[in-house]
Amino acid sequence: MILEIRDVAKSFNGFRALTNMWMHVEEGKVHAIIGPNGAGKTTLFNLISGMYRVSAGEIHFNNKVITGLSPHLRARLGIGRTFQIVRLFDMTVLENVMLGSHCITKAGFLKTLLRFSTQEMEEERVTREKAMGWLNFVGIHHRADQIASNLPHAEQRLVEIARALAQDPDLILLDEPAAGMNPKETLGLNSIISKINQMDKTVLLIEHNMDLVMEISHVISVLNFGEMIAEGIPSEIQEHPAVLEAYLGRKR
Ligand code: ADP
Ligand code: MG
Repeated sequence: MILEIRDVAKSFNGFRALTNMWMHVEEGKVHAIIGPNGAGKTTLFNLISGMYRVSAGEIHFNNKVITGLSPHLRARLGIGRTFQIVRLFDMTVLENVMLGSHCITKAGFLKTLLRFSTQEMEEERVTREKAMGWLNFVGIHHRADQIASNLPHAEQRLVEIARALAQDPDLILLDEPAAGMNPKETLGLNSIISKINQMDKTVLLIEHNMDLVMEISHVISVLNFGEMIAEGIPSEIQEHPAVLEAYLGRKR
């Protein structure tokens, strides 16, 4: 198991966003998280990536307790992520992706910008090359020198994915990557997620597009009102009474 959520809770000023949260994510899988808006999905990602601290419970990653670690350390341990609302810096596409690698290389970004030594220049060259490789991987290498915020929305999402991949994570968290994508773009995303998974990376995916979820996931977890109500393979989840009732709003 690459990630285990044990009895995790998160409250915001007394409001319980997550309670008794549990989850088992097997290595090498595409694991989807579904549930209505406000169910606590993004909060869970923030707890896993370390942006938020848990109110209770433990998070295990690669057999280590990571509950108290900083986001930076978690990134170094192999957790990458994208955001529900795209977060890119006011820089070129390539520079945004290079920032991903700088999470894990010795020389910080500012330092390499100043280019002190030949060793740092060499590190910068390798970082640049790798970043181009990831842009190629998501199919937008031709955008490398453009300012990220000028790209169409779907491509900005791909920049974020490339940046997360540049960290070389074992586990990548994608928060509604298909949001705002048209069917063709969603199809492209589908194949990118498959390719990521084929590199033996585990994918944890929050997504509302049920066609995408059903097609691509090995396992699906369902959240509702801050609680985990079901976990199973897609065919089980499709037929799960609690899921039909809570998520799809149907009665049995
Ligand atoms: P989802 O991603 O499933 O739509 P979220 O995790 O974003 O849901 O939100 C779950 C609940 O927690 C919501 O009611 C939201 O308003 C609340 N919440 C999330 N983050 C914060 C925060 N930083 N401060 C206060 N409330 C928050
Ligand atoms: Mg969300």
